Amino acid sequence: MSADPIHTLADLDTWSFPGTALAVLGHPIKHSVSPPMHNAALAEMAKRDARFATWKYFRFDIAPDDLPVALGKLHACNFYGINLTVPHKIIAFEHVTIDADARPIGAVNTLRRTPTGWHGYNTDGYGLATGIREDLGMELAGAEVILIGAGGAARGAAVECGAQKCKMIWLVNRTAETRDQLYRMLVETAWASNGPTVQILDLKDLPKILPKDPIVINATSAGLKLSDPLPIDLIALPRPAGVYDMIYNPLETPLLAQARSLGIPTANGLGMLVHQGARALQIWSGAAVPVDAMRAAVHSAMKAHA
Ligand code: NAP
Repeated sequence: MSADPIHTLADLDTWSFPGTALAVLGHPIKHSVSPPMHNAALAEMAKRDARFATWKYFRFDIAPDDLPVALGKLHACNFYGINLTVPHKIIAFEHVTIDADARPIGAVNTLRRTPTGWHGYNTDGYGLATGIREDLGMELAGAEVILIGAGGAARGAAVECGAQKCKMIWLVNRTAETRDQLYRMLVETAWASNGPTVQILDLKDLPKILPKDPIVINATSAGLKLSDPLPIDLIALPRPAGVYDMIYNPLETPLLAQARSLGIPTANGLGMLVHQGARALQIWSGAAVPVDAMRAAVHSAMKAHA
């Protein structure tokens, strides 16, 4: 057995771990860098507080239909914290109690054990805002944001833009139907009258008033392959102040390459990954989390995967 095996649902029938167990669930899970990132943080935390020497973070490949059963078994096996990645963030919403901040997003990426089940949080928005601040040197507060995408990540990003009091959100998506659903969710459910202005940006029929110095955020999966089409052509728009791509593998997507060639500041999603993980570990541990150790572990894991 390798040092970091991929566990399955069946492993929970004979599970035995004497310490505090954490896990990420996904399907697939092979490429997740969360286990090395969290275990590096726990090793660093154990130097200051011996309690963390018995904590360990595992990974599980769980099919979407198996998620409810897996959550029950993980609870019975005494797991303390869970991260959820594709495709579980929205499915889990129906099976756990929900933190108030995660409610408008409709998706959770972090679960903390309670006596009777799991309590769900969403730390992706915090990760995004911190990544944009650290890696682009920009704030969402007061910004005009062009948000590309209408899936779970875009939903979390839009709600965070609202929480950070951005000035305007311009929604772009390949499929108009899901973009319009996101629009309605934001203006009718999440914010009512109390949020930033939301506009739909139709790239085939650009409006007369265009965003000024926008921060462009790619929350689509276009760019995971270098052969993917651009999710937006930056040349067709007013020059952005910066372009943030949530994708971190590849490190430079076609969108970031185009932005760089135009001299526009860019950042990939590595910072978001690290900070959403740091916030999750803080929720579980209640302790200060060594973000630098997490970032270094992600960089080495990415090199090992390359
Ligand atoms: P999702 O729910 O499956 O949504 C996918 C989105 O991408 C949809 O809006 C879809 O548009 C769009 N899309 C897919 N292929 C496209 C293409 N070829 N051209 C244009 N648009 C395309 O996925 P998600 O959970 O929101 O995740 C989206 C991305 O964010 C993923 O790449 C994920 O890795 C990344 N992410 C990163 C972090 C991080 O920590 N850095 C955290 C969360 C997510 P349609 O509606 O038209 O299908």
